Amino acid sequence: MGVAIMPSVYIKTYGCQMNERDSEAVAAQLAAKGYTLAPSEAAADVILLNTCSVRDMAEQKAIGKMQNIAAEVRKHRPSVVLGFMGCMAQSRGQQLLDQLPEVSLVVGTQKFHRTAEYLDEIFQGKRKKIVDVGTEAGSEAAIKEHLPLSQKPIAPVTAFVSIMQGCNQYCTFCIVPFTRGEERSRTIPDILEECRQLAQNGAKEITLLGQIVTSYGKRDIPLREGRSAFVQLLEAVHELEGLERIRFTSPHPKGYGDDLVEAYRRLPKLCQSAHLPVQSGSDRILKAMHRGYTRQRYLDIIKKLRQAQPGMGVTTDIIVGFPGETEEDFCQTLSLVREVEFDNAYIFKYSPRHDTPAAVMAGQVPQPVKEERNARLLTEINAIGRAHYDQRVGQTVQILVEGPSKKNPSRLTGRTRCNKIVVFEGSDRHHGQLLDLKITRAGSFTLYGDPAILNLA
Ligand code: SAM
Repeated sequence: MGVAIMPSVYIKTYGCQMNERDSEAVAAQLAAKGYTLAPSEAAADVILLNTCSVRDMAEQKAIGKMQNIAAEVRKHRPSVVLGFMGCMAQSRGQQLLDQLPEVSLVVGTQKFHRTAEYLDEIFQGKRKKIVDVGTEAGSEAAIKEHLPLSQKPIAPVTAFVSIMQGCNQYCTFCIVPFTRGEERSRTIPDILEECRQLAQNGAKEITLLGQIVTSYGKRDIPLREGRSAFVQLLEAVHELEGLERIRFTSPHPKGYGDDLVEAYRRLPKLCQSAHLPVQSGSDRILKAMHRGYTRQRYLDIIKKLRQAQPGMGVTTDIIVGFPGETEEDFCQTLSLVREVEFDNAYIFKYSPRHDTPAAVMAGQVPQPVKEERNARLLTEINAIGRAHYDQRVGQTVQILVEGPSKKNPSRLTGRTRCNKIVVFEGSDRHHGQLLDLKITRAGSFTLYGDPAILNLA
């Protein structure tokens, strides 16, 4: 009897780093069951789209993509299995099968780890269509596998680790509590074991991921010497041998305690970068968003962080055109941006989301106004970012060399401790090293180091 050839799978990911991490864990689980990973859609027996629901545009993109794939496979490769995973799969469920009859699998955010099992059932002919968007106890600890080094083009020196799932904040604009469920945290020993394995396999930098990491373990792990569960986790990860750098995303200003600020002073591996979503500079809008902090509270956190680490790189998320946002509210966001001098910011035009309170609030802002505010804010952020990057020219910075630059693979790229990308001309032997580089030039949100003054000591 011949050996059955296992199907190959291609996963395309939309959205945030958590989605990237979920996709990698699913790929690793599939590989462990014998599935192969296809290098492209065209070569795959299974095509899975891991989706994002945060804005309507992200949903439309994934649906449009699946429509194109479905049209192609219907004509030329009808045996290909198509599936949706993740946030949009969770929020739309069965509706996706009704809309796209070529799709056979819909896997929600608490069921990623069941993907391999469901594909087996489809290939064995046990079931034709599967939709699973239920809740599952313990699913927060099911995203821990990483692809083996043999499946990677180069050994990764950075890694993401999901420490929790869900969000209980219920910001009025946000669909995440509905797509990701209630906050559920993994245990510290479980997370440590994953980080230890990664460090043993060569990871030097780990980014701890959660929708709201400042809420990590709040209900299960008591304060210790006034330190929150999240700070206790940082301390534990900090002890791991071989690990050089720790980052995390995203914290929430509401839960950003002094113990976390202090951690930046005490823990040398904690990189001097903070991504702290502000959303708006107007107290009126922050209240309507149900963010749970004021402009002043946000500014105080940034001040304390910069006192703890003067070189701190600070980035944020901002929404423009939230319902009821007036020109004056928007000007307060502009003034906050000038005051904080963010290194960079992700700007989002408010997108009404199904079943969220803001979607039905009075004062929805017309699209052209959102576009105009988006453009003005972008100009401001770019100018501030430009000045920050220019200031780095002539300075020596430490980078962790991650691999070839995406734009020009003959060059290498890495990031500074405050999370700025640096491109330089090096060689394979620099991969995975912590290097001190002198910055010679600043581009748009990129720094360049000169190989002639590489410190190779
Ligand atoms: N949990 C983090 C927080 O709220 O601080 C961020 C997670 S969210 C997936 C990433 C960003 O998307 C948010 O910070 C917000 O700026 C943006 N976002 C969320 N819902 C949005 C909506 N309905 N319209 C536009 N942008 C939105």
